[in-house]
Amino acid sequence: MKYLLSVDGGGTKTEFYISDLQGNMIDTFTTGSTSIKSVGGDKSYDHLKAGIKWLKETYKITPDDILMGVFGMSGCDSDNDYQMILDRILSLGFTKDNVHLCNDGVLAFYAQTQGPGIVVIAGTGSIVIGIDKQGEVKRSGGWGYHFSDIGSGYWIGCEILKRTLLYCDNCHPYSPVFEQVRGYFQAESYTELPYIVTEIKDMNQIAGLAYEVVKAVEEQEELSINILKDGARQLADQVAGMVKQMDLSEIPKIVFSGGVLKSKIYQDMLASEIRQLIPNQDIQFYIQKNRPSYGGIKLAQRLLEKKKEIVLQVFTGGYLSKETTYEEVESKLKPILEKIKVTKVIIGWSVDEELYKKIKLLVHKYQAELYLWMPIFSETGLMEPVSFLQDFRGEEVKSYQLKAGENFEFYCPNIKQNRESVKHIYEKHFSKIGFDGIFLDKIRYSSFSNKITGVFSCFCPECMKKYQEKQLDTDELRMEMDKVIEGLEGYDGHPLKCLTYEDGSYRFDNPIWEKFFNCKADFIYDSLKEITGYFREQGLKIGMDVLSPFLTHFTGQDLSRLKGLTDFMKPMMYRITYAPAGLPFEYDSFLSGTTSIDTDTVRREFNQLLGIKTSGDNRFDLDFVKSELDIMERMDIPVYCGIEVNRIKDVVPADPEYIKDTINSLSQTNIKGFVLSWDILSAPEENIEAVYHCFGGRGEMQ
Ligand SMILES: [Zn+2]
Repeated sequence: MKYLLSVDGGGTKTEFYISDLQGNMIDTFTTGSTSIKSVGGDKSYDHLKAGIKWLKETYKITPDDILMGVFGMSGCDSDNDYQMILDRILSLGFTKDNVHLCNDGVLAFYAQTQGPGIVVIAGTGSIVIGIDKQGEVKRSGGWGYHFSDIGSGYWIGCEILKRTLLYCDNCHPYSPVFEQVRGYFQAESYTELPYIVTEIKDMNQIAGLAYEVVKAVEEQEELSINILKDGARQLADQVAGMVKQMDLSEIPKIVFSGGVLKSKIYQDMLASEIRQLIPNQDIQFYIQKNRPSYGGIKLAQRLLEKKKEIVLQVFTGGYLSKETTYEEVESKLKPILEKIKVTKVIIGWSVDEELYKKIKLLVHKYQAELYLWMPIFSETGLMEPVSFLQDFRGEEVKSYQLKAGENFEFYCPNIKQNRESVKHIYEKHFSKIGFDGIFLDKIRYSSFSNKITGVFSCFCPECMKKYQEKQLDTDELRMEMDKVIEGLEGYDGHPLKCLTYEDGSYRFDNPIWEKFFNCKADFIYDSLKEITGYFREQGLKIGMDVLSPFLTHFTGQDLSRLKGLTDFMKPMMYRITYAPAGLPFEYDSFLSGTTSIDTDTVRREFNQLLGIKTSGDNRFDLDFVKSELDIMERMDIPVYCGIEVNRIKDVVPADPEYIKDTINSLSQTNIKGFVLSWDILSAPEENIEAVYHCFGGRGEMQ
């Protein structure tokens, strides 16, 4: 059985909360402080260990049994703190995969509500923490008692103490609260009081004065009212600053937490100050009543929902390329494998046995699987004899050259030799390496990016025979294709005269299109059935590179059938790639290839048919991509969504903001994971940092 664990590590005590996966509490356990700043590294580690021991002895639960452990730790402020505390947690037997470390304040928020929102904590110290839509954490204040932590118990204590001491020195008018201060320190007189105060070493003792101030406020004592109001105003400033920083479009939810903010008067003052600063009057205030450790369980559940697998894709060059060295791959891959949990690495397809053997050792060391990335109906011609696709006029389909070493030729799936050549390449060059799986690329006909004739294929003698078997009228089909090219009978402004698009399928004005594309899908399926059968015999798992459902129809990919041949699929959701397989490029090629008039009108109409919204930023509609992933989800396909992390000048302008935006948004779908495509070797460091930001298993403290 698996469990959730929440650890609320405070400055004075630490609470362990263990629950089942539904969040039902099994038990709690309290031990001493685990704040490295309050009790130091050794003691905090001992207290953590005590909790883990309790779990093992009482419930026989070990860190292995914990699906997600949320550690909300006081004193976890900087990257240094984070690393130091994380190392200690990991040495208890947890892995980066089942630990989420954050500041303890985050738990107080989740104890009461779900993000996005803000939590204001005023206890001994104070801090304002913002949690955005994606669960990312920002902070304000809480930088230490001496210079920050305004509005906290310690700050209020100092404010009143300063004035009391001035009064003791005859520099301040009398105020009744001073009597309470004198009583608090058990001083016989105001002459003795300063001598007692100078001896104080415990912050908490000063923070305790805040409760005297609150008491005095309840009795309408003026000086105390002013101090408390000042604290509330400054805390409200921090909240307003946080709202600005977070760009909250929804109604802000604000949670009040911490000892001093248990005071109703202080809560009211703070709420009223916040209302004055934030124009949105619909703010919802919550008082943190549930225990913070319960918030950790809530957060653990949320993180599990969000957790996606990560797959890396590495391009070592085309078959004939020999440029990529092991050192290059290692220097790029190792830091990623160290930092985040990667489950698969897809690599190919230069012919270099030694390179892959070394990489296999590296990848296996991090418990990831290694897949050979291999093009099936393309590229083979560089190594073995092949037969090209023939278009409807009997000409060979021309290629689109993306870069040297990758030819983007397409071969007919119906020609036995083409399939045998693929197997032969594998046998000869890759079979001795010991890959865990094979990742099949270009398992389709050419798309519109090879011009319209690429789609109006294949008409080789072998294919003609097969069309006849399937009773496809090729004469009519050719005539219809001519009409498209000539722009006759309404084809000029209406792509293939598509009528509807639903669940990944099109209906056309002339049903011959459907028949034609179904034939292509049959041929690809039959051909892949043989090829995947061969690879299964070699003991390999199988993955497939596929197009987004709205493009698959035209290239012979029937995802609902192909899923039976593969362990997973990677739809290429390249929203900004202007090259083959890139969504904007393929879509443009489709529209411009099939029509001849007024592109804007055509686009507007077809956007409507598909449900695509255009934005000004040249990125393919994210909501549409989500709906495409939903289609695959309904087909029950294990999906690892391919997104670009590499940057290629004038082709793929992927930057950190694009990557974060895409990952965070698509994480809300039911996909199993992401494939960081299509070449991690050409991903700039800042793009990889963006990936860490999304998958680092931590709430970033900024
Ligand atoms: Zn053919």
